[in-house]
This record gives sequence, structure tokens and C-alpha cells, in this order.
Amino acid sequence: MFLDQVLQATFNINSMFKIKTLTILCLLLTVLITNSQSQTNTFTRADTLRGTLSPMRSSYDINFYHLDIRLDIDKKEISGSNLFIFTAVQDLKRIQFDLFENLNIEKVIYKGKEIPFNREFNAVFIDFPESIKKGSKEEFRVFYNGNPTIAINPPWDGGFTFSSDQNGKPWVSVSCQGFGASSWWPNKDHQSDEVDSMLISISVPKGLMNVSNGRLRSAKELGDGYTQFNWFVSYPINNYNVSLNVADYVHFEEQYQGENGNLSLDYYVLRENLEKAKKQFGANVKPMFSVFENWFGPYPFYRDGYKLIETPYLGMEHQSAIAYGNKYLNGYRGRDLSGTGLGLKWDYIIIHETGHEWFGNNITAKDIADMWIHEAFTMYSEALYVESREGKAAGAKYIAGIRSNIMNNKPIIGTYNVNQEGSGDMYYKGANLIHMTRILLDDDKKWRELLRGINTEFGLKTTSTEEIVNYLNKVTGKNLTKIYDQYLRFARIPVLEYKQEGNLVSYRWIADVRDFDMPIRIKKGNKLQWIKPESEWKTIKMNSAFSPDTTNFYFKLRQIESGIGHSE
Ligand SMILES: [Zn+2]
Repeated sequence: MFLDQVLQATFNINSMFKIKTLTILCLLLTVLITNSQSQTNTFTRADTLRGTLSPMRSSYDINFYHLDIRLDIDKKEISGSNLFIFTAVQDLKRIQFDLFENLNIEKVIYKGKEIPFNREFNAVFIDFPESIKKGSKEEFRVFYNGNPTIAINPPWDGGFTFSSDQNGKPWVSVSCQGFGASSWWPNKDHQSDEVDSMLISISVPKGLMNVSNGRLRSAKELGDGYTQFNWFVSYPINNYNVSLNVADYVHFEEQYQGENGNLSLDYYVLRENLEKAKKQFGANVKPMFSVFENWFGPYPFYRDGYKLIETPYLGMEHQSAIAYGNKYLNGYRGRDLSGTGLGLKWDYIIIHETGHEWFGNNITAKDIADMWIHEAFTMYSEALYVESREGKAAGAKYIAGIRSNIMNNKPIIGTYNVNQEGSGDMYYKGANLIHMTRILLDDDKKWRELLRGINTEFGLKTTSTEEIVNYLNKVTGKNLTKIYDQYLRFARIPVLEYKQEGNLVSYRWIADVRDFDMPIRIKKGNKLQWIKPESEWKTIKMNSAFSPDTTNFYFKLRQIESGIGHSE
């Protein structure tokens, strides 16, 4: 709030004194923003340990985890171990992994022997007895126990949710995006490194079922009142996607004939909701896959199948095991985020969270500061779903509708290396940015190729803003860098100033990015015409009112009185 007022004041002063060049203003704004951020964001040693890819983390590449834990529901306690199999990227002797400090580490075993460890906040450092040479593959196992954090407002704050179904049977889930997978299991808790595959063994009291990611390999009676469910994930997976869901679930299934053949759709829901679930999932899931596969390419995890699992919280994009808690309502908990009515015709959580299978799970940001890569494209996928059912104009209307949720309070990109995501505008404003990119490309065939290509190029990998913007530039053949910089790195949107004098209209961009020059479309008669405003005034002949395409482009339009603001 404070920053906005400061910026507004700067603008007023600027127009009063008619500063000729924008350069000074841009610099001033940069300083103000930088100062404001350094005043409001104070990062700690713990943030750095969590968010920085230090040599003690980058020196090893995780290949495989076997998480093997028991869940004591009465005590709200977990106990067990995680096996790390890794390859040394360089010679190393000491490495860091992560586990929240409220959880107890019993021992770390390497080659059959305990090795020393020490802890600093949520980071754990281990020392191998001898140097491990670059290229060698090694493993160690961490034994631990304790009471993991309980979420107060899941999935937003992260942690476990202990609930129960209508029959009073336990219903337990976990969600930890942003908060950290190390809040409940030991791992290298940095998004840049994903395991190649993972075995998840969760033991739960007999009579309950655990559903995790991947495929169920076996369910084993342990003979002590517990059943162990062994789930195998055969693809790279983000730490925060690893999940457990425990309840007296009932299961039903469908098959989808998709681009890569037969895709299994498995659903796990509470006994009391079976009929509702059949209806809601039946209406939403298959139509969604046909839209998403068409635009984004094959579902990225065919071998592992696709699952929807009912959870006590709203939802989360857990890879191949989507958490579903939208109570079988259309919209977002029965609401339409776009305010157009178009959002009430489908189940928001099914569509949104599944969109993440392509953007977030398949393509993952290395640093959570770049989380817009997950959320902007995923929210945009909602518009493509609307478009497929209601037509192209409806998709654009949906995108324009969600703008009412944009705050323009701080940049979409967060702070790097401290595990800090940026503004929630990454959703609504981010989706608008993706939509504008399509309009700028002005070639839907190419746009579809781009969306499919991005999933091939960056699929099953981790990436960054720079790589994604470079890719967009390359494929579109346009230089979008200034546009992405303005919308991602600054809080405010650009302002298109114009003035109309007789049949002449002058226009220019006011933006934070120097020489911002995004082309836009205007209505001229019955036609749309491209113009390319820049920071200096340009003039065109118009016989009607100046009418830019504000449905497809998101910016501020400001008419100024004639005679004001002539630069020369
Ligand atoms: Zn999302």
C-alpha cells in the first residue's frame, strides 16, 4: 500500500513539472522499488539455507528416494526413514539436506555405519568419512521421527490435516508447497533438483488405505495392526508433490484413450461421496484431457496414470495424484473467479490442478521466485478449457474477467535464493500475460505448437524465467523480453496515454521498463489494426473514437487533455 502511494505521488509530480524524459523516472522508480523491497523483506540465515543452491547442495544430484514411514494417527506422529541415492557432481565430503528442526533425527547411516551430522535451523549437514569422488553413485539413509506441523489453513500454509469422514474414520492428508517437503520428510529441499524416480512406502492402521503418487506396487499386512502401501513414481517429481492421503477410501476408475494410448484414471473418494464423485468426475475429467492434450501435448505421466484423491482441503497439484477438495461443486468452491458466469460450468479444482501436470509438475521452476511459470500457464489453461466449450470469445472474456482479482501490489517474480514466491498476481495477471502473448503472435496454429513445444523442451526438467522468455522469443520470432519484464518484474501495469485532437490521435506508453513498446490492436471501423506505441508520442489519423482492444490486452488506458504532455 505504501509503495503504491509513493509511486502515485511520483507520477503526479512528474506530470506537474513535465519532465521531458522518462529515463529519470524509470531510474527513480527502480530506486523506490529496490528501497521498498529491502525495507519490507528482511531475510534470515534460515531463509538462505533453505532457498540457496549452495555448493553443499549443488555438489550432489539426487537420483532416487525411498521414503518409508509409519503414520500413527492417534499421536499425529510419523517415524521411519528416507534413503537418498545420489551422484556426486563434484568431489565432496560434506553435504546439506533438509528436515524441519521440530523433527528428531535418530541417525544417518552410510555404508552400514552411523555418520556425524549437525543441524542449523531446518538444514542438516552430514560429513562422509572420506571424500566422495565426482561421478560416483552413493547412498545414505536418514532415520527420523516426530510430530510434523499441522496446517492451520491448508493448502496455503502447509502441513498435515487430520480429519475424519462421516463414519468417524480418520482422513489424513498433507500439503506443503512453498512451506517445504522437509516439513515432513528429509530431502534436498530445493526445486532445482528432482529425483528420477521414487518409492513411497506409507504404513497406516489396518482398515485404512494410503494413496500416494505413481502406481501402487503392493499393499502388505505388517502383522502389527498396520498395512504398508508401496507406491512407485517412475518419473522425476518435485518434493512438494510427494504426498500421502489416508482414509477409508472407495475406488472407481475410467480409461481415457489419449495421444499416448490408454491412460488410467483412478479415483479415491470418501465412501459417502461415491455417487457425487462419479457424476462430477465423469462430467469433467475426460473432456478436460481432450482439451489439454490438444493444446499442451500428451499427459506427461502416462506410466504413472492419473488420479483424483479426495482431501479435507481444497486442492493441490500432487503429481499423478491430484488432491481434490472442491466438494463436487462447479466453480471455485461454488464461486466464479471470473465473475462472468463462465467459471460456473466446470469444476475449478479438477481443471486447475490438472493443468499443473503440464505446468508445474512437468515443467518446474528451479527457484520458487519463478513460480509464475506454474501458475500463469495453469490459470491460462482454464481459459483454453472455456474456449473449447464456449468459443474463442468466451475464453478471452474469462481472461478479462479474472482481472478483477489483480492487486498490482508487488512484482510477480519473488526474491531469488531465499525460498520466496512473488505476488499472487502470478495467477490472474500471469494468465493475462500468457493470453496477450498469444494475441501478439496472432497465429493460433503456431501458438498450439509453442505450448506443445514448451512441454517437450522443458518437460521433466527444472527451468527459469530467462529460459522460458528466451524460448518464447525464439518460437514467436518476437522480442517479448520488455513485455515480460514489465509484467513480471514490476508491480504496475503499463499505461497507454492518448489524446484526441480532431481526427488525429496521439498515444504513448508510460511504463517502468525503458523503451517499452508492446504492440496492441485498436478498432478502426469494423476492423482491428495493430499499432506499436512507444515511449515517445506517435500520431495516427482516426475518424472515430480511439478504441484499443482492452478485452485481449491488459493495461491502463488514460486519456489526457489536448495540449498537455507534448514532449517537444
Ligand atoms: Zn495453481
